[in-house]
Amino acid sequence: MTKSIPSQPSQFVDAGNARRHALNPVLAGFSCIRCQLELAVADYFEGCPSCLARGEPSTLRSTYSALPTALTDNQARGMQRYAAWMPYMSWVSLGEGGTSCTNFSSLAHELGVAAIHIKNEGQNPSGSHKDRMSCLAVTRALDVGATMIVAASSGNGGASLALYAAAAGLQCCIVTTSALSPVFRRAIIMTGAQIVTASDSLERWDHIANMVKEQSAFPATNYLDPPVGSNHFGLDGFKTIAYEMFEELGPDLVDAVLVPTSRGDLIWGLFEGFRQLKAADLTTAVPRLFAVEPFARISAVLGGETVTGSFPGTTKLTSIGGSTVTYQAIEAIRLSGGGAVIVVDEMVARDQLRLARHGCYAELSSAAALTGLELLLKDEVISPDETVALIATSNGYKELASDESDR
Ligand SMILES: [Zn+2]
Repeated sequence: MTKSIPSQPSQFVDAGNARRHALNPVLAGFSCIRCQLELAVADYFEGCPSCLARGEPSTLRSTYSALPTALTDNQARGMQRYAAWMPYMSWVSLGEGGTSCTNFSSLAHELGVAAIHIKNEGQNPSGSHKDRMSCLAVTRALDVGATMIVAASSGNGGASLALYAAAAGLQCCIVTTSALSPVFRRAIIMTGAQIVTASDSLERWDHIANMVKEQSAFPATNYLDPPVGSNHFGLDGFKTIAYEMFEELGPDLVDAVLVPTSRGDLIWGLFEGFRQLKAADLTTAVPRLFAVEPFARISAVLGGETVTGSFPGTTKLTSIGGSTVTYQAIEAIRLSGGGAVIVVDEMVARDQLRLARHGCYAELSSAAALTGLELLLKDEVISPDETVALIATSNGYKELASDESDR
């Protein structure tokens, strides 16, 4: 393991002096999405303790005694419009959320589907959806008096967390592998965060586990193998993508949503947001959620493999790489009546170009959503009279020209 030290040491503030943020008074606690165990408001870095004891790590969902009937605070902007439905009423904000959900009618016509809406998460402060999670994770870390926040990342998550940690005055350590692109490396180091390079994903998690246990670092992401979802305060941020889609698209939403997926934080958060909207009678149905992946992992589990298995594969879609599956991803798909679709890198590269030529310049892994749609239309899993949304998770400007990124 090698360490990269930032060229200029950061000036860290004492978290005790940092701004505190108030928990939502209607946050009742957390419950396990697998065994329904109910837990008080606290930190459960390893998810449900009961499921973990059985060797089946499981994500926790936040529970609320009563949510206000109004979804939005119209005086607020971006993600803060939904503060009353979040675990914190305010947080360390850089203006996350409020991204566009645009109807690409010519693309829909080209593919032969009723409508394609693209939720462009590349418009967030660090250029990806991860900002919606980082703001809440950093806020929770401050609230419990942590001075260091740590995360495993292949790029987007690390760049996002480093930016929010800098804004919060927290030390930040991003544990990654040698595959980290120099674009992300620079973005992380510029904030004053430290990068630790591990030899592989599993070593990344061991390093984080040690930092949590020995240095009281606050983990924003998983460090277990088999893995659990990311920080349960942070995960709620992804619900706001569903809320924004509801505000843009109305109560009928769309029939299906395609989500580039690795360990399923985003697809789970989307499901949870859509589920809450339906429970509040704001919508009539949860759209079918489809995980798009570069090789069989979720697809293998849906086909009968065990969720805690290992599913190695190689891909250039680094933002959705990795060899593991989480229970939360499977639940989001099962409960929404969706599925999983495997895409090959070459098709995705072609679709990145296709998206750009329709006006959406997204990261390669984001373009996988379009490839997934083509395959699901071809297989008649999605029909031509349906409306769909693609989640463009990250901005195309994050990538090097192909000669370099293909190294
Ligand atoms: Zn459980």
